[in-house]
Amino acid sequence: MESAAYEAAIAGLKKLLSENDHLGDLAIAKIKQLTAELEVTDKFDPVEKIQNGFAQFKKEIYEKNPDLFDELAKGQSPKFLVFACSDSRVCPSHILNFQPGEAFIVRNIANMVPPFDKTKYSGAGAAIEYAVLHLKVENILVIGHSCCGGIKGLMSCSDDDTTASDFIENWVKIGAPAKAKVKAESQHLDFTDQCTSLEKEAVNVSLGNLLTYPFVRDAVAKKTVSVKGGHYDFINGSFELWSLDFGLSPPLTV
Ligand SMILES: [Zn+2]
Repeated sequence: MESAAYEAAIAGLKKLLSENDHLGDLAIAKIKQLTAELEVTDKFDPVEKIQNGFAQFKKEIYEKNPDLFDELAKGQSPKFLVFACSDSRVCPSHILNFQPGEAFIVRNIANMVPPFDKTKYSGAGAAIEYAVLHLKVENILVIGHSCCGGIKGLMSCSDDDTTASDFIENWVKIGAPAKAKVKAESQHLDFTDQCTSLEKEAVNVSLGNLLTYPFVRDAVAKKTVSVKGGHYDFINGSFELWSLDFGLSPPLTV
């Protein structure tokens, strides 16, 4: 039963109890029992969810692919570093069918790649450094998505330094250059369409920010790494993929 239906059923039974003058004791007891049962069965059990989820994964994937997991026990060599939003609807492993070992994934609010900054953004920096220098990924993919709350927040937040949140606004403002571009070029669009444009432009800002990491810039110039942008639209069920040509030439070697 849908959660809303449960709640309606419980509310109905409670209402019946509160107007119980005309009900016999047996009926009241029965209604009380039903109400209690409904409330118990409606409880979401996170432990059960986790245990069942792992049991399903182990039976359907882990135990059916012993060669893959033997190989992965020795190490990983993913071809992709992926930046995706933390949004629960856009897991890259689901939408792009990445299997274990195929993608090194960073997820954060609005799939931002911050610019190189050793103190402010060390978490993202460590992931990029590890993926590029140690795992030697060949592709970096930044995926934006439809209905992104972080992007909506960026579009709505004030452009001065005042903030109403401890972290969120300062974080999404990494995409401020994209917001300025959308505001300048897309005034004719309504708010929703401006947000869609911003979802894509913010990806481009992130692709540019990747080049502020010297080891990424070198790898892109040497063509050992390619950077790509993507936008997943879960309203239309579509995925757009693009590359940016930064016009970098490989460093001269003598
Ligand atoms: Zn998002």
